[in-house]
Amino acid sequence: MPVDARALALQRPRSLKAALAMLATAPALTPIAGCTDVMVGLHFGTSDQRQFIDLWPLDELRGITLDKPEGLSPRLRIGALTTYTEIIASPIIRKRVPRLVAAAREVGGAQIQNRGTLGGNIANASPAGDTLPVLAAADARIVLRSAGGERRVSFSEFYTGYRTSVRQPDELITAIEIPAIEGRQWWRKVGTRRAQAISKVMMAGVRGPQVRIALGSVGPVVVLATGAAKVLAHGGSVADAQAALAREITPIDDVRSAGEYRQQVAANLLAQFWKETE
Ligand SMILES: Cc1cc2nc3c(=O)[nH]c(=O)nc-3n(C[C@H](O)[C@H](O)[C@H](O)COP(=O)(O)OP(=O)(O)OC[C@H]3O[C@@H](n4cnc5c(N)ncnc54)[C@H](O)[C@@H]3O)c2cc1C
Repeated sequence: MPVDARALALQRPRSLKAALAMLATAPALTPIAGCTDVMVGLHFGTSDQRQFIDLWPLDELRGITLDKPEGLSPRLRIGALTTYTEIIASPIIRKRVPRLVAAAREVGGAQIQNRGTLGGNIANASPAGDTLPVLAAADARIVLRSAGGERRVSFSEFYTGYRTSVRQPDELITAIEIPAIEGRQWWRKVGTRRAQAISKVMMAGVRGPQVRIALGSVGPVVVLATGAAKVLAHGGSVADAQAALAREITPIDDVRSAGEYRQQVAANLLAQFWKETE
């Protein structure tokens, strides 16, 4: 049953500093960005959250820039409130991480792309989040900030289990940083249909001096398949890489698919990735 809206409270800070101060004293506040995930929980009565803090007006969490840290090569910085529509339209992201654009195009429909944010997809922590394998394969970093300061967490260390992460209740995701990616990028989502479908399996890959392979919907968290990547990077066969991959993923049977089918699809995607990036 939908939650009665009169039971809900919403804080609307005017700045990031004010938002972080509110979270420092009331960490039970749940951030909302585009609200596309939060609203589903409230509508179906599956969420027990009643106190919210609205991030949408905080322009400090927007923007897509190329940062040039001293002595390091430029890195892409994407504000947490960046929507899928903004990702799709961004010339910098198209050039540097075209597979993030491809993933954004397949998220929901136009309404969800206009409201749903990259930070929300990450914080929501669903293993079926479309952008997550791309970010894992790109070796992205999550920038977290609390009133006490800022820290960066490697994407591969961000999730601690199903729908859980290292983010503390008083922290917000402020941005995602992506280093320069050397090599060919690849991404594919397999779902029931092309649009408006949650994935059965997703895979993102980078084939360059390093091989990185990440999969979604094949375990409780997005999986960085380091074993399969190692086999391929050292000239091993696709069959050997597929065997390594089978040991790295733990797909389950659920309403969207069967574990056995997901295993087979993941193996097929691995072969497709390697063939198409020759
Ligand atoms: C019809 C429909 C179709 C969808 N299709 C897809 C799809 O194809 N692929 C897909 O991956 N997802 C899909 N989604 C899910 C959703 O749209 C995405 O996960 C979206 O990116 C969530 O972003 P948001 O800004 O709306 O998050 P919100 O709903 O505002 O928040 C989601 C979670 O993240 C937390 N949060 C948000 N921003 C921050 C932040 N900056 N710091 C800390 N915590 C934060 C919130 O507290 C909440 O727990 C769909 C949803 C709907 C309703």
